[in-house]
Amino acid sequence: MQKGKLFIISGPSGVGKTTVRNLLLERDPSLYFSVSATTRPQREGEQDGVDYHFLDTAAFRKLIEEDALLEHAEYVGNCYGTPEAPVNEMLAAGHDVLLDIEVQGAAQVAAKRPDAVRIFVIPPSWEELERRLQGRGTDTPEKIRQRLERAKAEFAQAEHYDYYVVNDTVEHAAQECAAIFAAEHCRPAERKHLLKAD
Ligand code: 5GP
Repeated sequence: MQKGKLFIISGPSGVGKTTVRNLLLERDPSLYFSVSATTRPQREGEQDGVDYHFLDTAAFRKLIEEDALLEHAEYVGNCYGTPEAPVNEMLAAGHDVLLDIEVQGAAQVAAKRPDAVRIFVIPPSWEELERRLQGRGTDTPEKIRQRLERAKAEFAQAEHYDYYVVNDTVEHAAQECAAIFAAEHCRPAERKHLLKAD
């Protein structure tokens, strides 16, 4: 059985990670998306347990105390974290697992799991990122300003990533991600047992 691999996608808020991720999940039903816990308010159209586990601060703190999170970080005033048990279960069952997390969380995962593959999704230009964030219509101007500030800091962390995927179109970005997933499964560590002569 093919072993599951852990893939992380990060990138600035508004770059279109969620759309790319959804296309990847639609095309590969064996890919497991890790549903994060967050204290951020639920947006219109988001489903609890599907997009996020929406928790209050006390419930989130409890997860930290119970050591139930693979990583956690604060992002623009809210807490986000990855429940560890489902990730381990899915990897053990041979599924690739996709984490959509910001850069601090990605660094924590990389420290714990050096074999995790990190993909940074970048916009075609800074202007395009501003345009997308404003066009989304889900955040106040102040939140948009904070998210752009945070994006600058995230760009500075991009050097630690294994791959850069440009989200010029969702189709193109999803194709690049799928190519990375496939290539990562062709690495010698995963295939060398096939070279045994006897
Ligand atoms: P949003 O509020 O736009 O859904 O997400 C804000 C940021 O939080 C995004 O960059 C997203 O990737 C990140 N994020 C979502 N879930 C997690 C998580 O579990 N851990 C960390 N560290 N970041 C997360």
